[in-house]
Amino acid sequence: MTIPKTMKAAILVELGKPLVVDQISMPQNLEAGQVLVKIYFSGICGSQIGEIKGAKGEDKFLPHLLGHEASGIVQEIGPGVKHVKEGDAVVLHWRKGRGIDSAPPSYKWKGKQLNAGWVTTFNEYAVVSENRITPIPKNSNFEIAALFGCAVTTGFGVVENNAKVRIGESVVVFGAGGVGLNIIQAASLVSAYPIIAVDLYDNKLGLAKKMGATHIINSNHKDPKEEIAKIINNKEIDVFIDNTGLPAVIEMGYRVTKNTGRVVLVGVPSKGSNINIYSLPLHFGKSLSGSHGGESIPHLDIPRYHDLYLAGRIKLNELITHHFSLDQINDAILNMSSGNIAGRCLIKMS
Ligand SMILES: [Zn+2]
Repeated sequence: MTIPKTMKAAILVELGKPLVVDQISMPQNLEAGQVLVKIYFSGICGSQIGEIKGAKGEDKFLPHLLGHEASGIVQEIGPGVKHVKEGDAVVLHWRKGRGIDSAPPSYKWKGKQLNAGWVTTFNEYAVVSENRITPIPKNSNFEIAALFGCAVTTGFGVVENNAKVRIGESVVVFGAGGVGLNIIQAASLVSAYPIIAVDLYDNKLGLAKKMGATHIINSNHKDPKEEIAKIINNKEIDVFIDNTGLPAVIEMGYRVTKNTGRVVLVGVPSKGSNINIYSLPLHFGKSLSGSHGGESIPHLDIPRYHDLYLAGRIKLNELITHHFSLDQINDAILNMSSGNIAGRCLIKMS
């Protein structure tokens, strides 16, 4: 197919402001390793909420496109692409998988350069680097497939690769958003116990129970440290996973974790948010580490997890609670940041 001249996309123009949904110009040739994908569904991840708010500080790439988990169909492949072909159903992800690491695409908006990374998904089409897409079976459920771009692979990867949770270990998951719920699900798959979910919102905690949390704590109403102590009879926990990036939560998690336990940081801290901990236990086996997308390897992990879904061993339908159109994307973002949405909301592109 020929590349469309223009498409609709959501653009981050100014930090802290609603995205601008507008027509943008597409590049008319694919470079080595680039793939044109028609996007079907895109998820919105907590990290895009942080990006829009400017959590990491100044953004020198403005204006730019965003989004990093989606599903779609390959329309055309650029020179050198070997791992996908026209017509393939694919998951779009931000972690690097198999294939060429291409140059990022060059889009234009109002005649000026519009920045975009190797994958963006808040747009009707995307020119994506070959290593940011993974093929899935043609008859796949495209709504579910979008979740494999980040929410599922990050959540499962945190449990498998970062926390390396063992059978019967106690796990606290602080923050039960899209990634947190999948961390809970993966902890449940490996028979962790107890699995304690903490969040500010009852709707998210309700979903956390469905995904396998054995105990839930609403930290708006109760002191999580006291509640955790009650649940584990004043012992210490094996694994604490933070999805909030908040120093007070991380420090508390570090304190309630065993001297041989693991604290894993998943949530992105705001620039300047520093933690204060007593580091001596780190010399004797306690660990504190940050996760980079659960260290997932998309082309190996996505087929594995997708098969588990097809076998009915993991719950993903329950995670998709809301749908929006691209024109409504700012409503979706507002609802997500205010905690109204438990689970994932999807943007339906076509
Ligand atoms: Zn993400």
